[in-house]
Amino acid sequence: MLITALREGKAVADYTKILLSEDEQPTQWYNVIPDLPAPPPPPLHPGTLQPAAAEDFAALFPEALIAQEMSADSYIDIPGEVLDIYRLWRPTPLFRARRLEKLLDTPAKIFYKYEGVSPAGSHKPNTAVPQVFYNAQEGIKRLTTETGAGQWGSSLAFACAQFGIDCEIWQVGASYRSKPYRRTMMEVWGGKVFSSPSSETEFGRKLLAEDPDHPGSLGIAIAEAVEKAVEDPGARYALGSVLNHVLLHQTVIGEEALLQMAKVGEQPDILVGCTGGGSNFGGLAFPFLREKLAGKMDPIIRCVEPAACPTLTKGQYRYDFGDSAGLTPLMKMHTLGNGFIPEPIHAGGLRYHGMAPLVSHVYELGLVEAISIPQRECFAGAIEFAKAEGIVPAPEPTHAIAAAVREAIACRESGESKTILTALCGHGHLDLAAYEKFLHEGFQDVDLTEEELARGMASIPDIAVG
Ligand SMILES: *Cc1c(COP(=O)(O)O)cnc(C)c1O
Repeated sequence: MLITALREGKAVADYTKILLSEDEQPTQWYNVIPDLPAPPPPPLHPGTLQPAAAEDFAALFPEALIAQEMSADSYIDIPGEVLDIYRLWRPTPLFRARRLEKLLDTPAKIFYKYEGVSPAGSHKPNTAVPQVFYNAQEGIKRLTTETGAGQWGSSLAFACAQFGIDCEIWQVGASYRSKPYRRTMMEVWGGKVFSSPSSETEFGRKLLAEDPDHPGSLGIAIAEAVEKAVEDPGARYALGSVLNHVLLHQTVIGEEALLQMAKVGEQPDILVGCTGGGSNFGGLAFPFLREKLAGKMDPIIRCVEPAACPTLTKGQYRYDFGDSAGLTPLMKMHTLGNGFIPEPIHAGGLRYHGMAPLVSHVYELGLVEAISIPQRECFAGAIEFAKAEGIVPAPEPTHAIAAAVREAIACRESGESKTILTALCGHGHLDLAAYEKFLHEGFQDVDLTEEELARGMASIPDIAVG
């Protein structure tokens, strides 16, 4: 079908990928908070329920990152050392998906920002590198973290190798067992990997005693990594999504995409991004939200989450812990409950009980929308995408692709030509087992029951505020 469409197609397109030169690379990160009509609710100290102070985070993060977490500045300079490492893969290309447009026979224009060209194959090194840089500057020798699909763990291991810092990673048990090559990748970069729950921590030992085959979850792996970091004054913890400073670092994606679209005289009518913790979405969307708030463009901005972990569309906007042991400050966010254990869907990076407080906040303000899509539609869309565009997407951005395909088909039906922008935030070369399953065995859409939802919600702490 594609071949015929292309043979019958019009003359060769005038551009397919839009590149930026190294000197067009953004040199500042963008903080959306000062531009919002209302500030996001602050994180709270779980004991006093007062707004958390910088020192409440001091055992977890270096001072520079805590300052960025709480910053009221609109722009923050990217350190030269970080820019130098970014140049290994940035600026990343923006593609016009002309072949997918033809395949779908749509008048829509589809653009995707491709973050799979980074060393780890996703957008995660955009924040791993500055996080390790600031830790190294403050004399930290060891970092601990969690990883779901393995993308974040490998990104942090890569960044630690750049700065000579030890890296310890708690990988969600189900993923540790099903994704041996991600683990090898972390080890190649010098990372030390544990299956979570592990016997290394008190919390892990407790869970293993209850269930030796515990599949783990991101909330549990975070709790283990945090437990190890706080017991060693020379260690800190690193988080790959959710927090303000992570979303801040990811804005290089959107800043570049803005410049790239301007080069071809385009603006998005609709922007769609997949949301796990919210970092690739925020990174792409916030610079466009700035333009929208300034009245310079008016795109619809839409989050896309898995039907099996519908944090925005079915979660509650409440104060909850970021981890399953209640070690982190309380954050006001859309949450399914810190005890919620999502079904083991293939998009491991989207299996998190909470959503970035900043993404939750802009959703509450009505500045962005959210939908959820079941995984079979996502993989079907990804296979059409791969056939047309060549790139095999990671399971997480298949959600963004499926949403873009829905829009493109709606345009075919209405005859309207919309400009659609999305992020292809990672490739799926280490996720081929999921594709194999989809192609040869097929898989089920996971239907979340009211009972499972209620069980998760019951784990949200009952506190007087918010
Ligand atoms: C981690 C990851 C995600 C989910 O995290 P966000 O913070 O929501 O971006 C999505 N896609 C890929 C490829 C990832 O590695």
